[in-house]
Amino acid sequence: MNLHEYQGKEILSSFGVRIQRGIVAHNHKEAVDAAKELTNETGTSWYVVKAQVHAGGRGKGGGVKLAKNLQEVESISNDIIGMMLVTPQTSAEGKKVNQVLICEDVYYPGESETEEYYMSVLLNRETGRNMIMYSTEGGMDIETVAEETPHLIFTEEIDPSLGLLAFQARKIAFNLGLSGGALKEMVKFVSALYTAYIKSDSSMFEINPVLKTSDNKIMAVDAKVTLDDSALYRHKDYAEMRDLREENPIEVEANAAGLNYVDLDGNVGCMVNGAGLAMGTMDLIKQSGGEPANFLDVGGTADAERVEKGFRIILKDPAVKAILVNIFGGIVRCDRVAQGIVDAYKNMGDAIQVPIIVRLQGTNAIEAKQLIDASGLPVHSVVEFQEAADKVQEVLA
Ligand code: GDP
Ligand code: MN
Repeated sequence: MNLHEYQGKEILSSFGVRIQRGIVAHNHKEAVDAAKELTNETGTSWYVVKAQVHAGGRGKGGGVKLAKNLQEVESISNDIIGMMLVTPQTSAEGKKVNQVLICEDVYYPGESETEEYYMSVLLNRETGRNMIMYSTEGGMDIETVAEETPHLIFTEEIDPSLGLLAFQARKIAFNLGLSGGALKEMVKFVSALYTAYIKSDSSMFEINPVLKTSDNKIMAVDAKVTLDDSALYRHKDYAEMRDLREENPIEVEANAAGLNYVDLDGNVGCMVNGAGLAMGTMDLIKQSGGEPANFLDVGGTADAERVEKGFRIILKDPAVKAILVNIFGGIVRCDRVAQGIVDAYKNMGDAIQVPIIVRLQGTNAIEAKQLIDASGLPVHSVVEFQEAADKVQEVLA
């Protein structure tokens, strides 16, 4: 589950990670109030207005702007709230901005230059260990740095039985070119950040930039936090942070219906029981010259109601040109699934405008095929995997 910047910062702060202070506002009036409160709290006289959407690159898209007085806070917030923000990480139509974070300005001049660093915490799947990735080249496009100057990105792996050791935090601070008070601050920052990552059951933190202020404080200016869904039951307060407006509406609906659905870019909808079979079916579709439009696992009980829900969800994607149902009747009998498909089809009337290929294998597969053939519906019933592939190819041609 992804969070907004302000929610991520809230979590970081609760574990003692220093952050750029900010207050959320839903309209320009709240924005001005937030700015006044920030000045009372921090003494800041400039502010940053930051669009809160689940996408990075907001600065490049005009979603992060500096305001030098309350009038500018008001007018900039008014412009940003409600806009469709397009960034390198959104679709061409962009994401609607429902709220902004009004932040204190932390790039004020002082005894030293400000510096922007990159830092992330994530799991290295190859070694099965958490790692901290960091670079002096923060604030800009880290993907470009990774591609063109990968030697500027450092990695520190953490032994799960020992946790982050003091020397590792010092090494990171040292490699970032810090010394004196700033080095000590960075050591504290890195330790608190790693503790926050572990205790919040996160699967990714990306802090870009981590800022060294002109008076040598180290703080998170941005926060991209991804929580591990499987651990949300341990964090009821984090679970409540979910913002469904930011998520794929079809996935949200499928999720609510208890279906395991992932939206993909292709043209062939899949309805399958079991994740392994779903993978195999997606491969099959690719081999037949199609591209899977989704991953949908209806689970063990493929009754008429679930099958109908599955069809309805798959058909919400306008790119779908055909649907392949591939179900193994182990616990559930094939003829019952077939009856479910026939009932769903009849129930939905004209809603199904694309060819359906059904492959049912397992208990009572023959009866299932007879049932579908006898229904007179335009459903192609096949028994073998290869037949299904050939049929997909045929209907797409
Ligand atoms: P992103 O573009 O979505 O990654 O959003 P960020 O939160 O990283 O902000 C984008 C950029 O805004 C940062 O890289 C900073 O250069 C700039 N920025 C953020 N906070 C401040 C601030 O307090 N003062 C100034 N002058 N610039 C800021
Ligand atoms: Mn950023």
